[in-house]
Amino acid sequence: MLARSPKTFLLQAGARAKSAALLAHGARAMSSVGVDIYNPTDEHRALRQMVRKFAEEEVDPQALEYNREEKFNIDLYRKLGDLGLLGLTVPTKYGGSEMDCSAVCSVHEELAAADPAFCLSYLAHSLLFVNNLTRNGSEEQKQKWLPDSCSGKIIGGMGMSEPNHGTDVLGLQTSATKDGDEWVLKGSKMWITNGCIDDETLGDIFLVYARTGPRAISLFLVEKGMPGFSLGQRIKDKCGMRASATAELVFDDVRLPAENLVGEEGGAVVCMMRNLEVERIALGAMSCGIARRSFEVMNQYAKDRVAFGQPLTQFGQIQRYIGESYAQYMAGRAYTYDVAQRIDLDESGHRLETDGVKLFTTAMGKAVADNAIQVLGGAGYIGDYQVERLWRDAKLLEIGGGTLESHQKNMVRELSQISKIE
Ligand SMILES: Cc1cc2nc3c(=O)[nH]c(=O)nc-3n(C[C@H](O)[C@H](O)[C@H](O)COP(=O)(O)OP(=O)(O)OC[C@H]3O[C@@H](n4cnc5c(N)ncnc54)[C@H](O)[C@@H]3O)c2cc1C
Repeated sequence: MLARSPKTFLLQAGARAKSAALLAHGARAMSSVGVDIYNPTDEHRALRQMVRKFAEEEVDPQALEYNREEKFNIDLYRKLGDLGLLGLTVPTKYGGSEMDCSAVCSVHEELAAADPAFCLSYLAHSLLFVNNLTRNGSEEQKQKWLPDSCSGKIIGGMGMSEPNHGTDVLGLQTSATKDGDEWVLKGSKMWITNGCIDDETLGDIFLVYARTGPRAISLFLVEKGMPGFSLGQRIKDKCGMRASATAELVFDDVRLPAENLVGEEGGAVVCMMRNLEVERIALGAMSCGIARRSFEVMNQYAKDRVAFGQPLTQFGQIQRYIGESYAQYMAGRAYTYDVAQRIDLDESGHRLETDGVKLFTTAMGKAVADNAIQVLGGAGYIGDYQVERLWRDAKLLEIGGGTLESHQKNMVRELSQISKIE
């Protein structure tokens, strides 16, 4: 339904050439005729419209209840499969929609504007599991797992973090040892989104990183039902993202067949780094969704609420919250989509910019949600207006997929190599 057609790319290239030619001939730049980086093709625009409608009609109305009850909405998740969103970046031959990184950002921005927690579970499935397997798995693995992943029949996740290794991920201790034709997996993974779907039920399928030598990390497919694979605990009472299920997964000598090794033995760091780039930009797009929704709520409230006989919009301090929030959102959004349109999902090499997008947008999303609470006063501090939930959800994005400090560290490692910005 959402398959990428060559025509849309010709349209996109044509639009770019036209605006460049106009500028070269001295025409004044006109924002109304510039390239729309948020919706680079008609297909992207249609995708955004479809997801926004779905988010407003079906995701938003359930968000508060599922947040309060800490429940993951598995039925709603399966509807994402009907819309072609679960395999957004997967080739059509496996049941996917074969779209690009700009499309990834649109979907995450729109879903997060309604319910960031539901969107986080979507991200863990569609990017951490599905996109990772699509880019790094064998033909047999893709044929076996992708069709059911795209339809929503099964739900997946990815295990990288451990109780004692988060930011220091390359120090991970979960091990896989060869025994004949099999691998024996031992250890545990912490904080795994979709690790379970309720208090007792494991998710269906996971990509798990494990040490296969002193300096070697490999990637494995681990399936629910394998002897020795169990739910350690469902992690509850989180600050935010409460409608997304988080778990500890335990591997007690789980025997994995040789065909469950993904990619080359010892070659998983490349898979990990490549997938972290798309994860980070998608988390940045989620922050943009949180900021946009928070802005909309505060903007409306300030017009409606009267104090001292005037709407709040008449007060300079409130104007500052609203004006700065809008500008911060627009800046974060522009950075996110500018980088997205330069990412080829089959390649890596955008580490600096994806770290930069996540560093800027996640702090921005939380700050704008915070501004919204302040503009609403007491009303902002309770659930009905959504912004306190958005603020709590926004905080996770400064931690998951890499902490702010890890982005700063990674970026300076690369930035110290350059002296000028082109
Ligand atoms: C709700 C939720 C969902 C998650 N989902 C997943 C998932 O699906 N899969 C998965 O694999 N992981 C997942 N994570 C884990 C997440 O990626 C980690 O929490 C994150 O990478 C940070 O690791 P940590 O919690 O161990 O913190 P730590 O690494 O212990 O860091 C603690 C603090 O120390 C700082 N720090 C650490 N090292 C340095 C350094 N060298 N220099 C400066 N500061 C440093 C950190 O920035 C942070 O402020 C999830 C986490 C949460 C909370």
